[in-house]
Amino acid sequence: MPTEYGTLYVVATPIGNLADFSLRAIETLKQVDIIGAEDTRHARTLLQHHGITTHCIALHQHNESHAAEGLIKQIKAGISLAIISDAGTPLISDPGMPLVALAQQEGIKVSPIPGACALIAALSASGLPVTQFSFLGFLPRTSSARQKIFQEQLNYAGTWVFYESCHRIEACINDLANVLEPEHGIAIAREITKLHETIIKGSIQSLQEKIQNDSNMRRGEFVVMVAPKIEEKKVQALSEQQLHILTTLLTECSIKTAVNL
Ligand code: SAM
Repeated sequence: MPTEYGTLYVVATPIGNLADFSLRAIETLKQVDIIGAEDTRHARTLLQHHGITTHCIALHQHNESHAAEGLIKQIKAGISLAIISDAGTPLISDPGMPLVALAQQEGIKVSPIPGACALIAALSASGLPVTQFSFLGFLPRTSSARQKIFQEQLNYAGTWVFYESCHRIEACINDLANVLEPEHGIAIAREITKLHETIIKGSIQSLQEKIQNDSNMRRGEFVVMVAPKIEEKKVQALSEQQLHILTTLLTECSIKTAVNL
């Protein structure tokens, strides 16, 4: 990789709370020559809040393929560029892919500055199994296309996750209810890190009722998570006698030794 090339930084920004911005992200955005932002006006609020005065250009889904070649030329001439999206991690249901792919192809160093990402934040607080998961991004707009995807996902062994807007959350949950058994577990994370943050877990039936009955539950931004069909094996409850023995042992030894004994 030629050392005179600049670097392309992929910088995560907050998904609500402006304080969820890493020190390294702020430093990087201050030091680069140019910031490519999905929406320069939106970016200005965040950048001003953190005292970042770097020159900002627009880099959104309508111009990124066209702009990529020119930007690559500039990076090859030694300019360093950071890309940011309106919220969270660029490229995750956001612009950035053509530029990153072209930069890699051209031997330019692409460096991630990790931070907020709605799907990861949602999963981390959902209480659903997360050892294996599948991210579906935004779903199609029609009910039939959504239900087809849900049917295809039914036998997936992990939790599946997707993004949804307030305009379609109710219809989308209704579609989900048409495909899943009423007791199938799901979780919904709404307005993560914001004032009205709500993270709820329950059967599809109960969460469908909640969304139908509470208009607040149809406002804001959403991450929907669906548990795998075969729930993780439930931990067997201890009998009263086992519990008594364990409690006695715990007064004498560590948890590990007590459980082993
Ligand atoms: N790049 C972003 C990321 O890393 O999560 C995602 C951008 S995508 C255009 C926007 C969607 O992400 C929203 O419609 C919503 O589904 C989800 N999202 C973003 N911020 C969120 C938040 N604070 N709470 C819940 N969902 C959020």
